[in-house]
Amino acid sequence: MTVRVVRAPWVLTGRAPSPALPRCAGEGEGAAAHLSGGRLAEPPPRSGGEGGGGAATTPALIADGAVALDGDLLLAVGPAAEVEARFGPGERLDAVLLPALVNAHTHLELSHLHGRVPGGDGLPSWIQLLVAARAAEPESDIAVEDGVAALTRFGVAAVGDVSNGLGSIPWLSRAGVAGTVYQEVFGFTGPRIERALAQARLLAERAPPLGPGLRRVLTPHAVYSTHLPRLVELLAAGPASLHLAEDPAERRFCSEATGPFAGLHRSLGVTDLPRLGRSPVEVVARHLRPGTLVVHVVDLDDEDRALLARSGATAVLCPRSNLHIGGRLADLPKLLEAGVPLAVGTDSLASAPSLSPLAELATLSRAWPEVSPLALLQLAWNGAAVGAPAVGRLEPGRAPGVLAAPIEREELGDAPFDPCRWLLDVFGREELPFTWLARHRPEPSA
Ligand SMILES: [Zn+2]
Repeated sequence: MTVRVVRAPWVLTGRAPSPALPRCAGEGEGAAAHLSGGRLAEPPPRSGGEGGGGAATTPALIADGAVALDGDLLLAVGPAAEVEARFGPGERLDAVLLPALVNAHTHLELSHLHGRVPGGDGLPSWIQLLVAARAAEPESDIAVEDGVAALTRFGVAAVGDVSNGLGSIPWLSRAGVAGTVYQEVFGFTGPRIERALAQARLLAERAPPLGPGLRRVLTPHAVYSTHLPRLVELLAAGPASLHLAEDPAERRFCSEATGPFAGLHRSLGVTDLPRLGRSPVEVVARHLRPGTLVVHVVDLDDEDRALLARSGATAVLCPRSNLHIGGRLADLPKLLEAGVPLAVGTDSLASAPSLSPLAELATLSRAWPEVSPLALLQLAWNGAAVGAPAVGRLEPGRAPGVLAAPIEREELGDAPFDPCRWLLDVFGREELPFTWLARHRPEPSA
């Protein structure tokens, strides 16, 4: 065994082992506690935890911390003095060490449309522009490969990649990115969805092999695009990802069977559009469960948030895409307060400027400065949401992927350095590249 010890001014240990978010010094219980009164991050614990010790006792932030690695396997994490006492003196890095990240919603196959689909007029208009751009421009393997390389640069070890053509599988597999490829189908009428499902099954049979830790599941696109009985079956069949409540036009479609989405269906010859329910969330709520991702959730009311929280589904926020398409963000403080499990995604390059989850969190941080940066970082450490449970937490005995975010020495300066805020406001906002100390190695499934 060759042990590598790396010591750094700050080590973040990642997601709390339980579904609850981590408690920070000065915080009480419950999600609402993460809405700290000011911009100040949590005062970091200076001690505690045991080198390589139990998950329950390792603090979320360790000042002067260290990791011990055997290849990609994490042997220990804790205060540097404790880790070095066990494994010998470490190399020193001016960096923040942290677990690898998760981009829980993207569409790599749209990478060739980077900057090509204008937004600002809401989702129905944007979809029409997207469909036209896709028809005009063939997909590009090079753009997908570049997208996967960018994910690696941005510290991403696991994805939720929504795909119609499954073209991302070889690139993700080759790069060792884990998670889920959500093979998406849509079709509002019975015949259309049956055709889409048949095509999807054929495509899946011919799909290239999946890399370690990567799985493929069939998934419905959205309530306004997918035949409801089939949509419900797909949600019941296992993990799935559903675009939900991205735009007020969806609510209108569900509650009144009017508006641009209804117009689109009528133009396709659908004459008997039913009213589906009060809101898109209400239409599907009882079919959601842990393992379902609901993506965007911008247009919610209190009742919707309560339904989501009860379902156990994870809401994936894609703030920069939402701003580009509709000029609106999901209400993060209200989602935290309601106790809805959360993750973050970028959406595709057709609506987001890059595939960096930290840059998404920087946008949320600017919009909601009252939410603590450590609470925000939790959204990028939700490996379990995409079927990669080891990703997002430095847990000894696993290989979650370990990142170093290099700090310029002068940034450490004399003013108190807040590593979580720096990660969002400087490293994330500027989209700086991570150094990988260890890669994620998924454990073989039992
Ligand atoms: Zn999407």
